[in-house]
Amino acid sequence: MSHPYQQQDFLSFTRANEWGSDQTQDFTLGNGTRVQVWDSGVIVFEPQNAGDKDIILSSGVHGNETGPIEICRDYVQAILDEEISVAHRVMFLFGNPASMNIGERFVEENMNRLFSGAHSKEPGLINRERIRAKKLEQYVDDFYRVNDDKERIHYDLHTAIRGSKNEKFAVYPFLHGKEYSKEQLQIMLACDVNTILLSNGPTTTFSYFSSNQYGAHAFTVELGKVRPFGENDMTRFIGVRETLKAMITGNDMALAPYNEADLNLFKVNRAIDKHDDSFQFYFANDVVNFTSFPLGFKLASEGDIDYKIEAEGEAIVFPNAKVANGNRAVLMVVPTTLP
Ligand SMILES: [Zn+2]
Repeated sequence: MSHPYQQQDFLSFTRANEWGSDQTQDFTLGNGTRVQVWDSGVIVFEPQNAGDKDIILSSGVHGNETGPIEICRDYVQAILDEEISVAHRVMFLFGNPASMNIGERFVEENMNRLFSGAHSKEPGLINRERIRAKKLEQYVDDFYRVNDDKERIHYDLHTAIRGSKNEKFAVYPFLHGKEYSKEQLQIMLACDVNTILLSNGPTTTFSYFSSNQYGAHAFTVELGKVRPFGENDMTRFIGVRETLKAMITGNDMALAPYNEADLNLFKVNRAIDKHDDSFQFYFANDVVNFTSFPLGFKLASEGDIDYKIEAEGEAIVFPNAKVANGNRAVLMVVPTTLP
């Protein structure tokens, strides 16, 4: 069976239309799966007898986070080539094609701070990421709105700027008191993600948007360290590739029984923001995420303010001294258990 994207690199399709595209496509594969392309990097697969999940896999919200983009590209290609067939409705979102094309984290602004309406909070400020974030919210709405009786899942796949003591980890969005899903944590473990950070409040991330507004089981999943396109050691992704493939094709995910001892759970203790250019860290650039320091250790300073370790086991996540003034420079987390 032929289809418009046969023999064509999916990324070159997004490259041609980095501002977005009104060239929508709608066709059916030989196995009956309906394929809809809604925009650059937005592709929906719907099998003839769709199962009980509506699944979104997003990648490339940060354009240089290549591993997840390559994983999702491979799924898209395998589905189009009918090597695998989806059992559920599945939407793939390649978040920020413009930044993917230049191999950068973003063009003008960190897109994963622009969801839940943050893209429109500063009137008059319009850029690629703001336009795209608003469109992505609409695509999520269009996708989930079709069914209200299905289990909604959205994994927003990333890689981190620096390595991690626990290479793969996930951020569980703030649930406003709703119960954490043990099955979802089992799925994360099957993806080799054994470290989970429980978010402590509303955020402007993509995963919180789907969790909060659509009740989706959503995670920001960090799969390792950023590497250029084509330089990822795909063997590091076997667990996540096989598990997500089993999920979208309706096969057994081979989940291990739930055991909290298999997980490293952390909660947010505080965030340290950068206010001016005097901000600096007192640990090396290659210190990995989830590294803890002794009580009282001087972590950072800004002007005459010192930031020290203030809790037992307090560890750093996402340190970045180069963020714009007014943004978070590092998240401080501590070990926890499920409530
Ligand atoms: Zn990212």
